[in-house]
Parts: sequence; C-alpha cells; structure tokens
Amino acid sequence: MVRMRINRSATGKRRSHHALKEPRLSLCECGAKHLRHRACDMCGKYRGRVVIDVEAQKAKKAAKKIARLEAERAHGGAIGEDGATSSADEKEKSTESSDK
Ligand SMILES: [Zn+2]
Repeated sequence: MVRMRINRSATGKRRSHHALKEPRLSLCECGAKHLRHRACDMCGKYRGRVVIDVEAQKAKKAAKKIARLEAERAHGGAIGEDGATSSADEKEKSTESSDK
C-alpha cells in the first residue's frame, strides 16, 4: 500500500521544471544557423576563423561510408572463405572526386 500519496498539485509543481529549453542558435557568416559556442557545421568557422577543414571531413565521412558498404556487401554476399580478399583495393579509388 502507498504510504504517502502525492496529490496532483505536488506532481505538477515537481514537473514544472521538466520542460526542455530550445537550443540557442546563432547565425553564422555563411548564413547557416549553428549552436552557440560550437563551430558552424556548414563552413567550419568559429567566430570568423576557420577551425574545421570541412572538405576533409566530408571526404573522410564518404570514405568511411564506402568502406562500411563494402564490408556489408562482403559479409552478406559471400558467406564462406572465398571473396574476402578482393575488397581492399576498391576502397581507395572512389575517394578522389573534388574537381573544382
Ligand atoms: Zn558557417
């Protein structure tokens, strides 16, 4: 049996502090919104200074994605001893696609 029942008033008062605040966003030089005290995701700038190499990060992410897809295909396609050695050389050729 419940010894000390909490009434609706007390429950409401406790929960009055549970609401989530919206994130503080500010406008970057490039026009995108970014979190306060964080570098911009779009251009990698923090207070007007470039701190993140965005292009390198994109390339890294793409390479990682390709590697994962390759691994999935190798794992799901051929269950056995054959076909496990041919995926190493295919990862390297698709990362260079910056022709600006
Ligand atoms: Zn920006």
